[in-house]
Amino acid sequence: VTEHPLARLVREALVWNDQQRPRSQQRGPGFSSLGGCARRVWHECRHDEPCNHDLECMAAVMGTALHGAFETAIERYAKLHSLDIRFEVPLRLPAIDLTGSADIVHPPELDDIKTTTLKSLAWYRKHGAPRNNVWQAQAYAMAWNLERPDDPVEHVNLIYIPRDGHFSDVYVYQMPYESDIAEQAVRWFEDIAAADEAPAPEKDDSYCSRFCPFFGELCPGAPRAQDAVHDDPWYEEAAAIYYSYRTHLRQENEGAKAELMEAPDGRYGRYTVRHKNGQYGPYVEVRQA
Ligand code: SF4
Repeated sequence: VTEHPLARLVREALVWNDQQRPRSQQRGPGFSSLGGCARRVWHECRHDEPCNHDLECMAAVMGTALHGAFETAIERYAKLHSLDIRFEVPLRLPAIDLTGSADIVHPPELDDIKTTTLKSLAWYRKHGAPRNNVWQAQAYAMAWNLERPDDPVEHVNLIYIPRDGHFSDVYVYQMPYESDIAEQAVRWFEDIAAADEAPAPEKDDSYCSRFCPFFGELCPGAPRAQDAVHDDPWYEEAAAIYYSYRTHLRQENEGAKAELMEAPDGRYGRYTVRHKNGQYGPYVEVRQA
């Protein structure tokens, strides 16, 4: 498809602007790396130079812009009403030398704002927040509690704001702070950072080529092995929902599809998941194995 000159101008300006942010220029891992692709984290730990510059970053650019707008609004509102809330709180986890900023802290609560889509929200409401979001927020809480044990965080909230929804769709996923979960995330990271060899690729090229800066020379992505058998109840349930879409609500079905876009090809229980490229772009196909 030929890109209109004005569409190219919009894309180039937004991407360039996003790349100027300190977080975009940071090479190393951040709190948001916890629970993601292990191979990607391994490259981040080595501060490898990205080799894939043709990334699809529309969702990330919009998420950053909305995130900034929400924070400015909440900060001004809190000042006006004398609310005791801290924003963009710099935190560090010394055990794994991870630095980052928690969006909002008002002990005993810590909040992390996530922009998402309605279809992902439908999935999170039913199945809970994704592991990497949970690990990230719990790790922020751990870092805060290590630095300020006299004023601890006891509850962690993930505030999901859909880019394509209404205010009534905003969803808050609440959890108690659980040091066990944060420690699990830390151990996962430590093992990857200490590995001499790169972990096996976890995602296939349908995902990697669009979203991972290390795809190509540094990582080939996982082979699309339809025969690979995965023990992953999360993706297995998504495959079951997507396969029997007629019996599920449209939004739940769309949420399952969004999850499966990131699943490696292969078998999940009774289902086979395969990524394909169609006339309108990549899509996912689920069949009964
Ligand atoms: S290219 Fe894919 S498998 Fe490799 S590090 Fe990136 S996300 Fe992981």
